[in-house]
Amino acid sequence: MSERTLVVDFDGTVTEEDLLDTIASTFGDPIVYQEVEDGLHGGQMSLKDVITREFEPVRRPLDEVVRWELDNVRIRPGFRELVELAEERGWRFAIVSSGFHELIEPILEREGVDVELHANRVDARPDGWRVRWQYGEDCGSCGESCKRSVAEELAGEEELVYIGDGYSDRCAAELADRVFARRGLAEWMDEHGLPYEPFEDFFDVTKSLDGAAR
Ligand SMILES: [Mg+2]
Ligand SMILES: [Zn+2]
Repeated sequence: MSERTLVVDFDGTVTEEDLLDTIASTFGDPIVYQEVEDGLHGGQMSLKDVITREFEPVRRPLDEVVRWELDNVRIRPGFRELVELAEERGWRFAIVSSGFHELIEPILEREGVDVELHANRVDARPDGWRVRWQYGEDCGSCGESCKRSVAEELAGEEELVYIGDGYSDRCAAELADRVFARRGLAEWMDEHGLPYEPFEDFFDVTKSLDGAAR
């Protein structure tokens, strides 16, 4: 029996750095990247448009980018231990990402971690990467194609614990029973007077969740 569902963001949460940002700015066009990031944070652009536009100038073959990320991307400490705790306790555990299966799966494989993953897909075409968006249209709450409905469905009647760091986590975090937040998400939660627990690594999360389960 589960009773608790953990939904975890990938970029900048499971990974120490935001992989989508790094790939879009390193392998794409840094000027386009800055333009659309400013548009997102200025409220003129949706996340979906931002990710779509950021990846259009990326032309490298997928295997080259995967090789690069396997050499460069680090996982936040304690991730495997949190997955193991969830298994032990029978909690459902899912990564819900705005990133791409094609970039996330090789990293999880490298870490030897097998977890449920919800993400977009990318068609790494030589004339520019095309995002194949997997989330539904227009959330009733934020008006964007967002993670909320996925998180809601995963948790059902169970306690929803959400762990994230950024823009794409806001709407789902608002819905969650319990939130662990860092960086941009933590700032946004502060601005909106929403409760959360800050975390540095997943050992912090494990300690807090495990304590509460006893
Ligand atoms: Mg993130
Ligand atoms: Zn939403």
